[in-house]
Amino acid sequence: MKKLILSILTASSLFTANAQKQLFNEMEYSPEKTVFNLNAPSKAKSVVVRIYDSAVITKPSQVVTLKKSGTDRWSATVDGDLMGKFYTFDMGKGECPGTFAKAVGVNGKRAAIINLDSTNPEGWTNDVRPAISSPSDLVVYEMHHRDFSIHPSSQSKYPGKFLALTEPKNVHYLKTLGVNAVQVLPSYDYATVDEARPDIPQYNWGYDPLNYNTPEGSYSTDATKPDVRIREFKQMVQAMHNAGIRVILDVVYNHCMSIDGSNFQLTYPDYYYRMVKKGKGTSGSIGSKGGKYSDGSGCGNETASEKPLMRQFMIESVKYWINEYHIDGFRFDLMGIHDIETMNIIREEVNKIDPSITIYGEGWSAGACAIDHDRLAMKAVTYKMPGIGAFSDDMRDAIRGPFSDDTKPAFLAALPGHEESIKFGLAGAIQHPQIDMTKVNYSKEPWTAQPSQHVSYVSCHDDMSLVDRIRASFPGIGTDELKRLDKLAQTFVLTSQGVPFLWAGEEVMRDKKGVHNSYNSPDSINQIDWNNFKLYPDVFFYYKGLIEMRNAHKAFRMGDADLVRKNLSFISAPDCVVAFRLNGKAVGDSWDDIVCIMNSNKTPQTVPVPAGTYTVVCRDGMVNVGGLDRLRVGGTVTVGPQQALIIYK
Ligand code: CA
Repeated sequence: MKKLILSILTASSLFTANAQKQLFNEMEYSPEKTVFNLNAPSKAKSVVVRIYDSAVITKPSQVVTLKKSGTDRWSATVDGDLMGKFYTFDMGKGECPGTFAKAVGVNGKRAAIINLDSTNPEGWTNDVRPAISSPSDLVVYEMHHRDFSIHPSSQSKYPGKFLALTEPKNVHYLKTLGVNAVQVLPSYDYATVDEARPDIPQYNWGYDPLNYNTPEGSYSTDATKPDVRIREFKQMVQAMHNAGIRVILDVVYNHCMSIDGSNFQLTYPDYYYRMVKKGKGTSGSIGSKGGKYSDGSGCGNETASEKPLMRQFMIESVKYWINEYHIDGFRFDLMGIHDIETMNIIREEVNKIDPSITIYGEGWSAGACAIDHDRLAMKAVTYKMPGIGAFSDDMRDAIRGPFSDDTKPAFLAALPGHEESIKFGLAGAIQHPQIDMTKVNYSKEPWTAQPSQHVSYVSCHDDMSLVDRIRASFPGIGTDELKRLDKLAQTFVLTSQGVPFLWAGEEVMRDKKGVHNSYNSPDSINQIDWNNFKLYPDVFFYYKGLIEMRNAHKAFRMGDADLVRKNLSFISAPDCVVAFRLNGKAVGDSWDDIVCIMNSNKTPQTVPVPAGTYTVVCRDGMVNVGGLDRLRVGGTVTVGPQQALIIYK
């Protein structure tokens, strides 16, 4: 009977159960002994762990052979106190720190045995996650540590480091802007920056994972001490939490820096990656079994989340970042490479800790994946993944133009035909009776079940900054028009029922000197020049004003599809005008009736609006939540050229 019950359990419930098991507890320390475990093939000839006195000394102090302790499982117990030692595993393919090292030496070559409790900053046990009632309550600020604080104008004590986000001046800046979540670009240990040379400026976005479960050393003040990066990362999270700001981690489980030499490959060759059958497929490189590695990431490989160990690795990794580092959310890079089932299991596991922890990702891949397409966590099937969101290229491209051609404009250039895609984004990609899906650019069906599954943005680290993008698609554009279009674009983002997402520095008109893919461009391209604040203060205050408005008014973040369908109604408008009403009263907002009208035409435009006396909140590129003016409306209202008008009564 017991067997029968087991056999009808789904894979999903089995792995949910497994999630409690901790298959990636590779090193269990106590002062008396240390237990080492490794997931490696049972047929491996030998598996050893080498103990070192330092991260760099070449000769190990001990070499211990692991014994089979289960199917594809090897273990050994080393007596004595190994605190402060370093170790590597070797199953015949070469040394590596294992797949789940929680502390590492410089450049992540060896794992370290440290007391994790000693890395907790003072007050860490009282650290509290800032509350939200829906992901739509977030205003996400995506940032790279170096971009944010490396320019001399930042006057940071810790330029390019985790600790920059603990500096009162920087915390104050974020609070003033009003964002309530920072999404940090990859901050786990990645491969491309030489941590042994902090004296040389080096730059990378970090989409080249090395050790998934320890922070990147080059963002710490001392990469040679394994505890420092961990402590400073926690200090960063704590400082953000104290300011009411959540920390969202960019996680890149979909690929590794390379296959050869990766910790996955060195512990269990060809297990963690998807392969295409011999003779099939054109991408990737030749695997050891003669098949080719699939390359859905465009980086030479793709991991196989549907395989039990890879799935379990992702579950345990996410939980580890939440429990050890108090992380509040995850942005899954190329989520479309992972399978739906794994993403849903991760969501379930995270819910057990705190359902308010956000999960969203890129609902696409960068190439064909070696798995049935219907199983992939693509944007189009976001509705099948409750509590998981996806970035909206529909809205992004309708506003500013396609990813594939930086010179091609869209709505901002007063080109008609993009209005319906923008409306779709404003509603959070739900089914809405007033949206004609036949006119939406990329999606022919709604792809969310809830608006909070829609990440609304016009720019991110990928791709050009908004300013560069507008310049590229409007040759010869002057500063005044540039500012008008920049503000208009973000007005959609910050009034969308989805999750608004801003690329750091857009609020001061950051540029990247026109570079599109700046993943390894020098600081001179990627850094935010904060002197821009003095040049474009009105842009900063426009963003700040809209964020303040959103944070104060529930009508802009109803967080529920039925509420949005009932209380967001679109107003019929001329070409290149998008206009809508929000029934604030119905959702408990102090603003009863809100009207937003966005016009990209170079001429004023008029739309029908119910008669009455309104308060003007946004007009002529200015926002004041307390009111700019009063406006008596007789039945129509006129919005100025290339701008947004927001009024309420
Ligand atoms: Ca590193």
